Amino acid sequence: MTQGAIVSGLSSTMLQPTARTSSAIWSVLHRQTMLTVATYGLVYQCFIPFTIASQKYQSNQFMKTPVVLVTGASRGIGAAIAQKFVQAGYQVFATTRQSSPVGTVDRVLRLDVQDDESVEECVNAVLAQAGRIDFLINNAGISIYGAIEEVSLAQIKAVFETNFFGVVRMTQAVLPTMRRQASGRVINIGSLAGFLPMPYQAAYAASKHALAGWTETLDLEVRRFGIRAILIQPGFIRTDIDRNSTTGALRKDIYGDERNRVIEKLRVSVESGDDPVTVADAVLQAATKRAPTIKVLVGRGARRVRVLRTLLPRTVFELGLRRQFELGDPPKRVHRHTEK
Ligand code: NDP
Repeated sequence: MTQGAIVSGLSSTMLQPTARTSSAIWSVLHRQTMLTVATYGLVYQCFIPFTIASQKYQSNQFMKTPVVLVTGASRGIGAAIAQKFVQAGYQVFATTRQSSPVGTVDRVLRLDVQDDESVEECVNAVLAQAGRIDFLINNAGISIYGAIEEVSLAQIKAVFETNFFGVVRMTQAVLPTMRRQASGRVINIGSLAGFLPMPYQAAYAASKHALAGWTETLDLEVRRFGIRAILIQPGFIRTDIDRNSTTGALRKDIYGDERNRVIEKLRVSVESGDDPVTVADAVLQAATKRAPTIKVLVGRGARRVRVLRTLLPRTVFELGLRRQFELGDPPKRVHRHTEK
């Protein structure tokens, strides 16, 4: 009964002011008041915990918003991935070696994946701010052009330091946290060059082949902790990777023409490649899919080449690759140590 009804009940009994009616009035008034207080109390009791719960829910929600750490997010594929996760409502930490901003990402951290200390500081900074890491996206990578004879050992090591050991450092730094959480995903950005030979890019191809083996093995080892490892293998993607590539320090004229021809073909392929957003879409899917595939090909080229590589006999596939890159033909003469 509402307060209005109590007042109207009271006013109707006041029309006969006798002792009996007066005590009846007081009894009704008392009962109604108690009822009202009880009703208010009930509503109050239900409402207050609800308010507190809703405040707690909101702060818990922030704590529970999945945390993503993207390496090499200053440009190209990394920038597209960071942006994609921001749009999807995740807490994103984007890294760069520079001090420049990263799109609309709020939390930008300095990170050089070649440097142990830098890796430790970066991971500690994420944990201090967010308390957890749900997705590690190992995207930072470099490339180098040149014949195998033209690239110095120091240059090859530098490629591995970023593309392979950089991933190793980051993964080892993040795994203890993911094990404690009993959940997490490590998503590595591999390449078409991680399942194909790539002329005049041997160091890059070797580092991405190593990454493929590493990722598959990681997934075998950590799946029992609720952690998954996924390898994204894009074909050619339109970024500045080509412009940021170095060339072999030990130039040899014998390779000059062919090397330059192949580099030009690779440059054109990157320039006309797929949008980095296609890779970002695949990474977001790999992060959210309940049962993700361990190797994900991205882009028209990558899928076509994978099919050809699987279906064609090795010699036929290799011939196609030679034609594609206009590589010089092997000599017809049979080597004297080989069988006739
Ligand atoms: P970009 O050259 O455009 O970007 C490379 C990113 O890596 C930059 O953000 C750079 O950040 C970062 N980086 C380089 N070295 C380091 C380092 N030592 N420590 C931390 N960050 C570093 O290349 P893409 O966006 O094209 O390449 C991104 C990834 O995608 C790479 O792993 C690449 O191998 C792979 N990929 C690219 C393809 C393509 O066709 N573009 C195809 C297949 C795979 P900063 O300089 O700001 O520190």
